[in-house]
Amino acid sequence: MNLLRPARVLLLGAPGAGKGTQTSRLLKRFDLAALSSGDLLRRNIAEQTALGLKASAIIKQGGLLPDDVMVDVVSSELRALGWLGGDRSWLLDGFPRTRGQAQQLDAVLAATASQLNFVVQLKVPEEVILERIENRFVHVPSGRVYNLTYNPPKEAGKDDVTGEPLSRRPDDDPVTFRKRLAEYKALTEPLLEYYSRQAGVVFSVEGETSDIIYPQLEAEFVRRFT
Ligand code: AMP
Repeated sequence: MNLLRPARVLLLGAPGAGKGTQTSRLLKRFDLAALSSGDLLRRNIAEQTALGLKASAIIKQGGLLPDDVMVDVVSSELRALGWLGGDRSWLLDGFPRTRGQAQQLDAVLAATASQLNFVVQLKVPEEVILERIENRFVHVPSGRVYNLTYNPPKEAGKDDVTGEPLSRRPDDDPVTFRKRLAEYKALTEPLLEYYSRQAGVVFSVEGETSDIIYPQLEAEFVRRFT
């Protein structure tokens, strides 16, 4: 679906809240592109770039990369994609994740009149998230996510599109995952308050499954941009 005005979206939600799933559904429906900072880092790890080597150790422990590194890598990617300025519609998943990143991103976006205009908070109960993570498998090259309970791959252990093997995320083990969850609460949740200063930008949607959340998100997207 074409949009009447550019959508510049940030998807916020705890790890395991379904950001990847909501993103792929939005992309199917709307003329929109997405950038996931986690996928970007995992691609760098797979390609063994300098950034990938640095990221690998931090991600395995469930830590966060330094703000400056993230701002640099995401800003370059936004520039390379041609998303700064112009009228493309896009969505960010996983970045910014701290107040420092948000402030620096705002400066980059403001310089090209491309400020975020829709900040979505996905709210999913913690016990649902924990159950979900136990069953999560990913296809690293594409970022496609599968869940053995809700959306299993057509053939066990293989990506539906490429047939390549699926893997567990090393940072999904229970101890590391709890650390990531705690980090989300301490550092990323406060971004909701930060973005609430811009009237009407934040939209919160709550539900136990992606099927409950998605229709609400889509309706709001239609209301705002079409
Ligand atoms: P995600 O796929 O979004 O859960 O990201 C996986 C991991 O990549 C995170 O646990 C962090 O270690 C790292 N990461 C991704 N995005 C960021 C970010 N904006 N700031 C710092 N670290 C990040």
